[in-house]
Amino acid sequence: MSYHSSGRTQIIIVMLAILGTAWLVVQLFARPDAQQLSGWRGPGNSSASIAAAAEGTLSGRAEDQRGRGLSSALKPHGNPLNDGRTVMTQGYGVGTHAPAEVWGAIDLAIDGNDDGAADPQGSYDAPIYATHSGVVKVTPNSHPAGNHIWVSNEQFKTGYAHLAGFVVESGAHVERGQLIGYVGSTGMSSGPHLDYQIWEMQGGTWVNRNPLDFEPLAGL
Ligand SMILES: [Zn+2]
Repeated sequence: MSYHSSGRTQIIIVMLAILGTAWLVVQLFARPDAQQLSGWRGPGNSSASIAAAAEGTLSGRAEDQRGRGLSSALKPHGNPLNDGRTVMTQGYGVGTHAPAEVWGAIDLAIDGNDDGAADPQGSYDAPIYATHSGVVKVTPNSHPAGNHIWVSNEQFKTGYAHLAGFVVESGAHVERGQLIGYVGSTGMSSGPHLDYQIWEMQGGTWVNRNPLDFEPLAGL
């Protein structure tokens, strides 16, 4: 084989490589699912709904519908004490709940003797229920929250503080309405009550939310 014909072979190989690379680049930018997915991104959209949208795009409409159903179970809703005698003893972003973005919470207790105010007898040992589905993290004797539970999923997490005791262990999966513990006065607390917090994942960080936006005095 002469020098010239070997040189021509090299040129053809290089040209084929360039054409192949150009074809790959065109294929990447032309992917229809990549474009549809970006339409789902926005301030109100969670990573969960983006994942659900991606699943729906890949697997069809039925998968998309299932994804939407799942995300409503992920969102906190209702009263963690699930008791019609519940009263709010401290509001959101005031007193020990300020600043709201750090400690934002509401305090809930029970009016056991129907005089219009919470009382320790009615509140102590009242059952506490998860307000959404998620995985439990239990922290005994923490400061200032005392016996504390996080229930978290990729979209929301809720905090339950000052508990008398736990009935779940770290790593357990719970559904909305599942018993997780009992009202107490552990940690920095002046009487038996539940300190209830809601956090939402927004743009990769947990943002404190006002529990009053999630109907905490309605049934579960
Ligand atoms: Zn509190």
